[in-house]
Amino acid sequence: MIIIIKGISINDLRSDISSDYKTITYLPVYEKIPKYYHKDTWPDSINIPCWLCREKFQYIPIPIIIEWETKRVKGVFCCPEHAKYYINKFRDNDINQKELKKYTSFLLRFCKEELNMNINYIEDIEDFYMSPEFGHI
Ligand SMILES: [Zn+2]
Repeated sequence: MIIIIKGISINDLRSDISSDYKTITYLPVYEKIPKYYHKDTWPDSINIPCWLCREKFQYIPIPIIIEWETKRVKGVFCCPEHAKYYINKFRDNDINQKELKKYTSFLLRFCKEELNMNINYIEDIEDFYMSPEFGHI
């Protein structure tokens, strides 16, 4: 349970807390992913992990483009391959499952035109659960 009382700091509480006090959890402050991509305001880095591999990364986050015209985006990924995997494998409500190729082509175009990446194709990655660390033989 988390109780927030305006005007009371954590130090005020500690002196009054009885012996059944166990832990106080400090909630981290997470950045929010912008809903739309704008070249001038898109962050150079973000403290949100990749939506696929859950790794944090120190370079420009790659979003999935939901609508090309408006540049409505979803998610952040460490690389185009992980964004492509998410498009094709996760049944995200914002991604029309009948148009998966469209989102992949938006992604490729975005990486080339907006992020100046020198790529002509986004590789498919192996399903993570097929790797030996997940017990696959
Ligand atoms: Zn990743």
